[in-house]
Amino acid sequence: MNKLSIEERLGKDKFAVDEDKPHIVLDQRICAQCSKKPCVKACPAGLYVPQGDGVKLDYAGCLECGTCRVVCVMKGLKWEYPRGTFGVEFRYG
Ligand code: SF4
Ligand code: SF4
Repeated sequence: MNKLSIEERLGKDKFAVDEDKPHIVLDQRICAQCSKKPCVKACPAGLYVPQGDGVKLDYAGCLECGTCRVVCVMKGLKWEYPRGTFGVEFRYG
């Protein structure tokens, strides 16, 4: 049996995006003071990208693993699970 790459596995997941209420909200003033920006390397989906002094986040592809919440020691983000039926639906493992 062929093994799927991580990208292929993630590609099978389905996301119901809550356009009205992001479940992760960044405080760019704090992000601008965060020199190491550990979220960029830690997010398994690669959703944090450096932008200017801060970072930008595409929360729509969030896997809800909570890693960014743990590594963000400067408390630059607010994190909660998506509302109701929103969020990720895992389809492979
Ligand atoms: S680790 Fe936290 S404070 Fe630092 S850039 Fe990422 S979200 Fe912002
Ligand atoms: S919860 Fe996980 S997948 Fe979602 S943004 Fe944070 S590190 Fe990335």
